[in-house]
Amino acid sequence: MTETKTNPMARQGQLKDEGLIFERSSDGRVGYSLPVLDVPEVDPVSAWGADAVRGDIAGFPEVSEVDVVRHFTRISQHNYGIDLGLHPLGSCTMKYNPKLHEVVARLRGFAGAHPFLPDEQSQGALELMWNLERELVEITGMPHVSLQPAAGAQGELTGIMMIAAYHRSRGDNRTKVLIPDSAHGTNPATAAFCGLEPVEVPSNEQGTIDIEALRAAAGPDTAALMLTNPNTLGLFEERIDEIASIIHDAGGLIYCDGANLNAILGKARPGDFGADVFHINMHKTFTTPHGGGGPGCGPVALAEHLEPFRPRPVVVRDADGTFRLDHDRPQSIGKVHGFYGNFAMMVRGYAYIRAHGALGLRQIAEDAVLAANYLKERLKNDYELPQDRTCMHEVVFSDKKQKAHGVTAMDICKRLMDFGFHPPTVYFPLVVPGALMIEPTETVSRQELDEFADALLAIARECEQDPEVVTSAPHTTYHRRLDETRAARSPVLRWVPPSAD
Ligand SMILES: *Cc1c(COP(=O)(O)O)cnc(C)c1O
Repeated sequence: MTETKTNPMARQGQLKDEGLIFERSSDGRVGYSLPVLDVPEVDPVSAWGADAVRGDIAGFPEVSEVDVVRHFTRISQHNYGIDLGLHPLGSCTMKYNPKLHEVVARLRGFAGAHPFLPDEQSQGALELMWNLERELVEITGMPHVSLQPAAGAQGELTGIMMIAAYHRSRGDNRTKVLIPDSAHGTNPATAAFCGLEPVEVPSNEQGTIDIEALRAAAGPDTAALMLTNPNTLGLFEERIDEIASIIHDAGGLIYCDGANLNAILGKARPGDFGADVFHINMHKTFTTPHGGGGPGCGPVALAEHLEPFRPRPVVVRDADGTFRLDHDRPQSIGKVHGFYGNFAMMVRGYAYIRAHGALGLRQIAEDAVLAANYLKERLKNDYELPQDRTCMHEVVFSDKKQKAHGVTAMDICKRLMDFGFHPPTVYFPLVVPGALMIEPTETVSRQELDEFADALLAIARECEQDPEVVTSAPHTTYHRRLDETRAARSPVLRWVPPSAD
């Protein structure tokens, strides 16, 4: 396999770079044309005052329409996304987003609906939300679902706020949230955000939670356990019944992080294995657009005893079949999002669920698990595999063998870009030093799995024979290795006029 054969990034690297849009600026060039004014001209400063009128923006480029189009088209091609190829970021479930979603979300009745429309004029939208909640009730095995949170992390916040409200309502002062050491960083951040104390619980040799350590940590101050199942090592917590009993017997509740729902869709339900709250990452499992910080949806499924605390308003269906938003929820934790959440994401997630049906959803889990195990088997002789047993939707290797040649997980990732693949998640979970966490998802073909495995095997050979080519990668991408420390320490997050530098 040659390193440029399937490399969309390399192709883009060869595009002629016509310079930054600022360098193409020319005094007086405009990117618009307006018709001749046919109404009296108004002086904006005398009409609205100098405060309301912005003068020229210093340093703003003066360019034509075609300059602008080429600029944005060019920078879009310096990028890599799921529509270009495999995006195996572990735990992120980067699967293909069906284009059907976009057609459905753009239907005029959905896209044009104003959030202030009265309930009588929003029956279709409310019905979709109600139906989506029922679908997610079925999928999670939990009696209620709130669609309001905007992401998984906000689902966590919503869930822990509900749990805290529940304990408060019983006059029960509990301050600690137990969190396994393999958890995603948002878990302890959420607990701390809610004024609770995150307490780390170690994993055992098998990569799952250490039951004896959990038993020792659980007590009358335990507000909740935040558990990811399957966990971030791609392993199902097989002793989940025992774990749930330990926490429930201590009077705590179970928050289940559902980022890895893809692995158990249609197979196991958090409601059946003891969860009191469970978040769903709509952009992961149900393929709404992912990344970029754009509008998201992170529904939470909740047990009956948490129902009074769920965010308001709540969609209800009256006896005559009409839908309305119920704002009269005195014990609610309040709103966690404007209006009722990001509706267009609910439309996309609902379209996905209905397009697949129950058996299709189950097939997703089977194919995702099969793909991960296929990669595990193809790579395990060449990359260290800390947990050598059947995995779920993702597999975690480490860079231990390559370290012997002075090559790190980061180098391997950079080199993968030369082969045209987005790197996997690295250095997470923290319990595996030098982790390479690979989640292929079910939307990858057998050919692409083989190409990806071939690339990683070729890199493993290079580490032995010519480590320098790996440690100095990437070689063919538009940008070479970036200064990650500077990017993190002094990020440039918005445009600043060149003159004001
Ligand atoms: C992605 C992820 C989250 C956070 O979800 P967002 O939707 O990105 O906010 C939490 N936990 C785990 C395990 C995740 O993979």
